[in-house]
Amino acid sequence: MLFTTDVFDGLIIKNELLWKEVLHQDAHTVTLKVGGGEWRDAFVKWTLAQGYAGLENLISIPGTVWAAPVQNIGAYGKEINEHIVEVHGIDLTDPSATLQILPADACLFGYRDSIFKHALAGHFLITHVVFTLQKYDPDTYFPNANYPDVTKRLESDGLTIGDLSPTRLAQIIAEIRASKFPNLGTYGTAWSFFKNLIVTPEQFEQFKDRYPEVTAYPVDGGFKIPTWWIIDHAIGRKGKRIGNVWCWDKQALVVTNYGWATGPEIVAFSKTLQAEVREKCGVDIEAEVNFV
Ligand code: NAP
Repeated sequence: MLFTTDVFDGLIIKNELLWKEVLHQDAHTVTLKVGGGEWRDAFVKWTLAQGYAGLENLISIPGTVWAAPVQNIGAYGKEINEHIVEVHGIDLTDPSATLQILPADACLFGYRDSIFKHALAGHFLITHVVFTLQKYDPDTYFPNANYPDVTKRLESDGLTIGDLSPTRLAQIIAEIRASKFPNLGTYGTAWSFFKNLIVTPEQFEQFKDRYPEVTAYPVDGGFKIPTWWIIDHAIGRKGKRIGNVWCWDKQALVVTNYGWATGPEIVAFSKTLQAEVREKCGVDIEAEVNFV
């Protein structure tokens, strides 16, 4: 979330609901109700310590549990909605303030997207999230470990997929992230500033004519082109600074506040990147960050 003015004229509610409750479990799965104010990374580590599998790819993503369904956070081939059963909350426009329980289907999850960014944006207070996870069983566990950074690391460590437990995979991903993303205690950043670009097969062919070396992944209806690749290779902005804002030198998608950049400065920087991408590539990149 990027505040774009010095003064915010409105109500801010900070969810500090701390709660972890096992609602149901059997030999293979567990269903957990978790308070929205729980720090997500601590929760992921807690699930691993309990021997639960499922959230290991989502280690080291800053933020709270309530924000996970809003953004439908995802990383290394795993999206949080794969484990969400229900989202509980209160519609602040409802005078009776009745607690609502939205089953996962009603949350309209998409790629880094949900109903909480659209019809319920700004007025739905998420109180708790209900997750389902597997109990780790080495005989049946199949890790999601096909992202290039992870496969490179497995190769260099002489490991195979069969050597991975959820905890080992989480440790590897946490190390990759620590080496690649800025320390949030030092720099202001939301990490990925823009969504990845999804293009049609025709657009992709045009893109490839111009940039034959482009990295891309097939998705439903077309191809996903990592936006870091465009910012780095097409407009050459990786590691480049304008005033107090820059694209991180190890990951160009990470727009970072170098010092005392104001909200408007960061907005202006992001618009410069968007305009340059449009001019060079003829495509629009969309902010993943929410502007307030
Ligand atoms: P990366 O590993 O350098 O990969 C770059 C992009 O290529 C990613 O965005 C990823 O798409 C895509 N990609 C890579 N391997 C893929 C495969 N095997 N199949 C399909 N798509 C593939 O990315 P990174 O910047 O270091 O970030 C690592 C992960 O953290 C990524 O998954 C990224 O999305 C995630 N992340 C999420 C958030 C967030 O939820 N707000 C913020 C920061 C980073 P996807 O983005 O679809 O995975």
